[in-house]
Amino acid sequence: TTPRTEGGPRPVRAPRGSRLTARSWQTEAPLRMLMNNLDPENAERPDDLVVYGGTGRAARSWEAYDAIVACLTDLADDETLLVQSGKPVGVMRTHPWAPRVLIANSNLVGDWASWEEFRRLEDLGLTMYGQMTAGSWIYIGTQGILQGTHLTFAAVADKRFGGTLAGTLTVTAGLGGMGGAQPLAVTMNDGVVICVEVDDARIARRIEHRYLDVRADDLDHALALATTARDERRPLSIGLHGNAAEVLPELVRRGVPVDVVTDQTSAHDPLAYLPAGVPFAAWEERRTADPAGFVAQARSSMAEHVRAMVALQDAGAEVFDYGNSIRDEARKGGFEEAFAFPGFVPAYIRPLFCEGMGPFRWAALSGDPADIAATDRAILELFPPDEKPEYERLHRWIEMAGERVHFQGLPARICWLGYGERARAGRRFNEMVASGELSAPVVIGRDHLDCGSVASPYRETEAMLDGSDAIADWALLNALVNTASGATWVSIHHGGGVGIGRSIHAGQVVVADGTELAAEKIERVLTNDPGMGVVRHVDAGYSRAADVAAERGVRVPMEPV
Ligand code: NAD
Repeated sequence: TTPRTEGGPRPVRAPRGSRLTARSWQTEAPLRMLMNNLDPENAERPDDLVVYGGTGRAARSWEAYDAIVACLTDLADDETLLVQSGKPVGVMRTHPWAPRVLIANSNLVGDWASWEEFRRLEDLGLTMYGQMTAGSWIYIGTQGILQGTHLTFAAVADKRFGGTLAGTLTVTAGLGGMGGAQPLAVTMNDGVVICVEVDDARIARRIEHRYLDVRADDLDHALALATTARDERRPLSIGLHGNAAEVLPELVRRGVPVDVVTDQTSAHDPLAYLPAGVPFAAWEERRTADPAGFVAQARSSMAEHVRAMVALQDAGAEVFDYGNSIRDEARKGGFEEAFAFPGFVPAYIRPLFCEGMGPFRWAALSGDPADIAATDRAILELFPPDEKPEYERLHRWIEMAGERVHFQGLPARICWLGYGERARAGRRFNEMVASGELSAPVVIGRDHLDCGSVASPYRETEAMLDGSDAIADWALLNALVNTASGATWVSIHHGGGVGIGRSIHAGQVVVADGTELAAEKIERVLTNDPGMGVVRHVDAGYSRAADVAAERGVRVPMEPV
């Protein structure tokens, strides 16, 4: 049980086991997942309700958190709780097929969608930043991004290095909630990586969680460790305490041969990026005292940081933006050539999106790691490599994840699956709950960074074939179709990943509680949700998506314009 200090910050941990604290699993699930987001194992700053990604929050205030918990504990299976940017604002009579929770986070009308206006409203207590899975209660720790990051580095390896990163050096920065997946993703591809991070505590945390191998004393030490490992073709991840805006230009000056460069500092929010020359200890005080001055300083540092990335690209490195808007911020900081390298989605991920693939995930509400082990075995059985050779990589992922992934909070698994595959997995999990193979229900959800749920012109929808990058109708249709299909909770957010003004995206979570009703909902949600991805890419003119639609029976009434 959670020790409570009514009203204020306190450690939160989801209940475990098969005993309900709410009235049914359909409400117990969002309750546990909200709490799980705030578990100190998961949340980067739990006292401030910040889960990950700069200031991505699970609830607007501790009072709002308490009110959400009270509502969910009491909510009936024909009622729906409405959450407006982290605050519960209404409970409405609906019906059993309706979502139990509907969430809208950080949405602003177009002309008002700037960080400045957002912060003004946030200071008034009227909104909060929901990121993607923070405000929609389906964060599963750094693992949530690990497989996507692993797939991205695997695609880099396929494109440039003969299918492996062995014998190569990657340089990146940011070891936060998402960025912390980078070192393990690179070593899983047999490469060597130096991860620059200004916060020493983050380096320690990633080492403790076995995402990062070692900490270097300084740049010389990091380069010595990296060179030896690279030459021996031995995987190694190295944390370097330093500022990327200083370290990367130094690598350029020294002419260090680097093979792959990216970045996962919280560049999307200039207040969450530490400018060069500012001591880490002075960060909070400086950004609070003069936010506008701090933003200008952060942007000019990002300009230097990105200038160095472009120089490394000119020297032959594979360079990509890892979805944090650093190119746009650098451009605002005065570096005109910031878009000289591509975003990771058009470069590596879009072909997967055409198949309705994306970051499918599930969490065991029991808290028992044995439940995840059982679902892992089920996935291996459901997707045998002799059915499709691509399942070989999926098998390698599940086996590696089973061995190497440290659970944070409730045990969970991520596994990218496509159209048809997600429904197959969901049906099986529900059967496993019904038969008692699993000790309690599981939740099945995904990141908003999915094939058909997001409009984000600097990331997921960068450089769409038909130029439809900024069309956000798709994300809204996605939320609507998930609501109509029986998802347990559905969310519509703005600004996740790349920051306010730059994205609109939707999420869904469905609960496998072993009932017949859940089986029907799961079938529809896990078919229609990735179906949106196929449809979106067919409409944009991707022939692979059109083939997938034809082969797997996704109905698309019209040809692309
Ligand atoms: P986070 O805020 O938890 O971590 C960011 C880290 O960057 C912090 O540890 C911070 O100390 C460090 N940092 C800040 N300035 C630095 C500097 N100048 N030099 C070195 N380190 C610095 O954020 P996160 O959850 O890890 O996300 C990182 C970024 O990636 C965000 O912009 C987020 O929106 C984006 N993101 C990308 C994906 C993806 O799939 N690629 C997914 C989610 C989020």
